[in-house]
Order: sequence, then structure tokens, then C-alpha cells
Amino acid sequence: MMDDLSTPPDSVRLQGLFDAMRTAARARPVVDLATRLDRLTRLRAMVLTHEQALVDAIGRDFGHRPAADTRILDIAPLLNAIHHARRRLKSWMRPRRRPVSWLFQPARAWIEPRPLGVVGVVAPWNYPLYLALGPAVDALAAGNRVLIKPSELCPAFSDLLARIVADSFAPDELAVVTGGPDLAARFCALPFDHLVFTGSTAVGRKVAQAAAPNLTPVTLELGGKSPAILAPDADPARAARSILFGKIINAGQTCVAPDYVLAPRDMLPALTDALHGRARDILGDGPCPTAIISDRHHARLMGLLDDLPPGTRVQTIGRDDPATRRMALRLVIDPAPDSALMREEIFGPILPVLPVDDIAQALDFVAGRDRPLAAYVFARSSRAARAHLAPLVAGGVTIGGTILHLAQDELPFGGVGASGMGAYHGSAGFERFSHMMPVFDPGPVNAFERMGPRFGRMAMAAYR
Ligand code: NAD
Repeated sequence: MMDDLSTPPDSVRLQGLFDAMRTAARARPVVDLATRLDRLTRLRAMVLTHEQALVDAIGRDFGHRPAADTRILDIAPLLNAIHHARRRLKSWMRPRRRPVSWLFQPARAWIEPRPLGVVGVVAPWNYPLYLALGPAVDALAAGNRVLIKPSELCPAFSDLLARIVADSFAPDELAVVTGGPDLAARFCALPFDHLVFTGSTAVGRKVAQAAAPNLTPVTLELGGKSPAILAPDADPARAARSILFGKIINAGQTCVAPDYVLAPRDMLPALTDALHGRARDILGDGPCPTAIISDRHHARLMGLLDDLPPGTRVQTIGRDDPATRRMALRLVIDPAPDSALMREEIFGPILPVLPVDDIAQALDFVAGRDRPLAAYVFARSSRAARAHLAPLVAGGVTIGGTILHLAQDELPFGGVGASGMGAYHGSAGFERFSHMMPVFDPGPVNAFERMGPRFGRMAMAAYR
């Protein structure tokens, strides 16, 4: 039988798309406001037209995921990001004046944003639409061409995305390639002008290595163990409500989910009661509504529980449904700090609750580990929480709640240390995916050239 030559293998297609984008970006480096707005408008229309199909495809990939969750967590934040970029783009594209030292007067200096060229986006499966197209919104707003590689763990969504993007965009504007880790590795070895990777810290290291020979700048949106810290004067019921919101949504498969809780020792009984009661209100006798993405991920989570030292207190709320990979919520009280549960990012509906003597001990515990992607602080008041926050370094923080800093258009979103590098969203994303090009105009009287050696003597005299 003859080979079907009409469909090029994935890697040939990948190279072809990349080359076409690069050629177009170099041939047409100026991307005006109208073109950028048109791309964002088409992206919005594409999402709105195919909303139900996107919800269905993501539902099929998870097996179980409430349609309302996909609308709230994937579609709404994406539409919001597009709306925000369209409204602000004109002002983002304006040159930014910068002050000029008196020595150079009457010169002028400013910064002009320029498109970088071709931006690559490698996305995970947990919020498949938002994390594939969210970075693309900022990169398109910045005037780039964008090539996306979604996760192989959501094949129905990835195939749909590839089709609808191809219907709405020229292949050298925005395109999608599908494939697993091999294709992803080849993707990251292409000489992109910028590469955005969202995924695990372990794979993030490989992405940085693959990008290094090309000197491709990377934005790494990684994971980690994000703590929720309760001050002695925190309200345990209120904290329990917010912590469980962050932990149960998407069955804990959220990069900024509260991974574990640090609470004053004498608050532990009240806190576990509050967590227990609230979880029962949400789950009743059932499992978390969203399934764990794959059998392998499900087995890993069950393994974290199996590996706990004998005698560890585990409270199960709701019910496991292994056939659908949906899990109950588990509170694990005071697990050993060196257990796998406390070493690895959990990424599922298991919540360790650890007692501490005081807030200083909680902050030491966090500081002794990799810097987290998020941290949550609960105290009597916002003012008190801010005081506790002072020594904390995390990717981002919500005070008295969880997750919500991620949803703010003008707060840069990203990690620090092992939880990532670089941030995007809103104007931070626009600038991240632009070259912020400095321009200097010495003006009609070039002070430097006119004064020659006197320039140096004057400067020395002024600053001595
Ligand atoms: P993952 O690292 O397993 O996969 C992410 C992507 O990387 C997939 O598209 C995959 O195909 C690709 N990939 C696999 N091998 C590769 C390689 N060698 N080179 C380049 N790419 C490769 O992550 P995941 O399981 O899809 O997602 C879960 C992780 O993502 C968690 O750690 C979570 O915290 C993190 N995450 C972070 C954010 C954030 O914004 N910081 C958001 C969501 C998820």
C-alpha cells in the first residue's frame, strides 16, 4: 500500500508552520493596532462560536467535569483577557516617555514596544483552553505570531482547537500543533523569539535546556506547593471556606490550589471541624465533581496516601468513585514533613493540615522549601495579614482567600524560583511578549558631542 503523502508527519508540519510564521514575522515586522485588534476579535468570535463544542470536548477529555466549571474557569477568564487587551491595546502600544539626565538636555528618551516575532506556547491539560489561549492573547496583542502545542492528555480538546484555529486564522498568524512529549521537545528546540511553557517544574527544566542553544527567552509557568497560612487570630470557618474553594475546584488540579495548610496548634480542632463541615456541605456523600485526568495521575494520588507512615490521621469526606477517577476529599492531619505528600506538589483533592507553634514557624517552614507559586494568608484583618506577609516570597498572594489574585487583569501572574520565571496577564503580558525598545534622540544640540572632554569633567564635578 502506498503511503499517504497528503498529511505530513507532525514534525514536518511543525517545522513548516514555524518557518512560515518566522518568514512572515521578518517580512512584516510592523503590526498595526487594527491588525492586532482584528486578531483578538477573531479569537473572541472563535471561542463564542464554538463555546459548546469546547465545553463538550474538555468534558470528554476529563471524563467528568461540570460544564459550568469549564465556562467559569476556562472560557470566562479567556474572554475577559481578550476584552481587557482590546480595551487597553491602544494605550499599551504608545511610546513611554522616560526622563533624561540634565547632562544630556535638551535630549528626549522613550521606549517603543515592538513585536518579538514568533512566540511558542506549550500548554498543560488542567485548564486546557485558558492556558493555551491566555498566553496567546497577550502575545497576539503584542503583535506576534503564535504557535501552540496543547497537552496530549486532552486529545478531544486539542484536535478541536487545531481545527477551529485553522478556520479562523491564517497558518502564519496563529496555529496549533498536536502531539506528545517527543513533539513537545522538538517544539521547544525551535528558535522561537519567546517560549511560554506552563506545566510541571521537572519538564520546565527541560524546556529551559532546549531553549538555551537558541538563546530563546522563556517564560516558565510552573507548579509547586502553595501554602495557606493561618494566623492565631484568623477565623477558622472563613479560612476553611476559601481553602476548600481552592482545593475542590477542578478536584485540586489547579496550579495555584492551596497545597497544604499551616495553622496554630491550638486552632487545629476548630479548623479541621470547619473543613470537615464545609467539605460535607459541598460534596455530601459524593466525590469531587471533576475527575482526575488519567489513571496514572489517579494512581499517583492514591500512592501518596498509601505511602503515609502508619498511624497518620486521614479524614475522608465524600466518596471515591475509582471507575470514573473521581475522588473524595481527604484531610491529612499532621503528616510527616518528609513524606512524599509533603515533598511533591499534590495536584489533587488531598489537604495536609500541619500544626505550627506560631506564625514565625509557619513562615520558616515555607522559607525552607522551594518558593511557591502562590501563598494564602488568613488573619483577623487585611492589615494584620499584610504584616505577616512581609518576609514571604511567593509567585503571588491572595489575602483572606485563595486563587483570586490569578483572576486580576493587571496583576502579573507568574512564579519565582522553582515555581517559574517571568509573568504575564494584561500589560505585564504585553510587555513580556514585546521588545521594549529604548530610543534616544539627542535633539538639535547634542550636548555630549558639543562638550567633548568637558562633558566628563562636568559630570565628575557635579557628583563629587
Ligand atoms: P507537564 O509538565 O507534564 O506537561 C505540560 C506540557 O509539556 C504538555 O503539553 C506536554 O506535552 C509538554 N511536554 C512534555 N514533555 C516535554 C518536553 N520534554 N519538552 C517540552 N515540553 C514537554 O504538566 P501537566 O501535567 O500538563 O500540568 C500540571 C503541572 O502544570 C503542575 O505542576 C501544575 O502546577 C503546572 N501548572 C502551572 C500553571 C502556572 O500557570 N504556573 C498552570 C497550570 C499548571
